[in-house]
Amino acid sequence: MINSEKIFSGGSNRGRRICVIGGGIGGLTAALAFARSGAEVELHEQAPALTEVGAGLQITPNGARALEALGLGSALDAVGIVAHAVEPMDAVTGRPVTQFDLSGLEQPPYRFFHRADLIEVLAEGCRQAGVNLRLGSKVNATDMDADLVVGAEGIHSQTRVALNGTQEPFFTGQVAWRAVVDAPDADPVARIWMAPGRHVVTYPVSGGRLNVVAVQERQQWAAEGWAHRDEAGNLRQAFRGASGRLKGILGQVEEVHLWGLFRHPVAENWGRNGVCILGDAAHPTLPFLAQGANLAIEDAFVLTRCCDQSSDITAALRNYEELRKPRVNRAIDAANANARNYHLSGIARTVAHTGLKVMGKIMPNAFMGRMDWLYGYDVTK
Ligand SMILES: Cc1cc2nc3c(=O)[nH]c(=O)nc-3n(C[C@H](O)[C@H](O)[C@H](O)COP(=O)(O)OP(=O)(O)OC[C@H]3O[C@@H](n4cnc5c(N)ncnc54)[C@H](O)[C@@H]3O)c2cc1C
Repeated sequence: MINSEKIFSGGSNRGRRICVIGGGIGGLTAALAFARSGAEVELHEQAPALTEVGAGLQITPNGARALEALGLGSALDAVGIVAHAVEPMDAVTGRPVTQFDLSGLEQPPYRFFHRADLIEVLAEGCRQAGVNLRLGSKVNATDMDADLVVGAEGIHSQTRVALNGTQEPFFTGQVAWRAVVDAPDADPVARIWMAPGRHVVTYPVSGGRLNVVAVQERQQWAAEGWAHRDEAGNLRQAFRGASGRLKGILGQVEEVHLWGLFRHPVAENWGRNGVCILGDAAHPTLPFLAQGANLAIEDAFVLTRCCDQSSDITAALRNYEELRKPRVNRAIDAANANARNYHLSGIARTVAHTGLKVMGKIMPNAFMGRMDWLYGYDVTK
């Protein structure tokens, strides 16, 4: 018997008809969790195939606990790379500022994935659990006939608009490039290359590749979205003062996409009248803590459990929102703070880097201890 059959033992989901809109990480996790709890699940994805734009994804132990409870542990092991450390780097000198050893983290491991691999693991889990996957199906929550409609359509969610009205996002003054380069010998370490006003994150993904995300502060507005092509030369120009090692990585980039980073408020209303939202649809998160997908996975699990434990969907949705909002707000605040901390300049940079170095030497486990609220969280309990 897989864990989820013990975890979803409330029984209220049995026979319920659940419609999930969106086949991203949040929607697929929700579809799988509801199916494992005995519901009849239909998932609509507008794209003709389940694919993910973008390359890498860090799934931290908090997200992995939910996925493992859904029976995906060995599939995750097969395609994920277990992370050994997170290393903040000085992008200018090319030297590590410190290293956060991940080996002391509680199981399951912190892993790096290629997004397409993780989507396939979730999709296969859904197929095996009997989810009706409807691809090439763009739908609207108001037209769906189900006991519960779950809007998991990401940042442009129409279900969010139906529940909350339109709320304009604002440009954060940061743009990001993403790319992958060949790196068959890359060690399993996430590196954050910090420089004044900009930073790069690199980590390995399957197939001997290195995922590269580079962020720069700038005033010009860039359109929100993931798929704007840019010249690799613009990326190299933005990091022209970087150390040889980072320059070597950026020098390999051939194809690059650029997008503007926007802040959206956390939605006020997450569910009513048998319709709810999760993941980026409810709380888009800047990528500076690597938690957007992890939070979407947690949301999906908590939503399923709240519904399973109540015959009253309205009460279940209220409970779900109350349980999730404080945690999501905390993670979003921490991600926003990282954006500032990575980009420090002048004396503030020297002080912060010295503090990190000292902390790494005298209290090597202190940093990971400070992240326990995030990575130690067990949504399955
Ligand atoms: C550069 C970058 C790096 C990141 N790194 C990490 C990381 O390391 N770890 C992490 O946890 N998070 C990370 N994130 C965040 C993470 O990618 C997102 O938070 C996560 O993908 C959100 O998942 P979702 O399922 O809510 O939405 P999405 O992934 O956006 O999925 C929404 C889906 O809904 C579909 N859809 C939309 N409208 C409709 C409709 N009307 N009908 C049918 N289908 C529809 C879309 O086609 C899409 O497939 C990162 C983000 C960025 C930008």
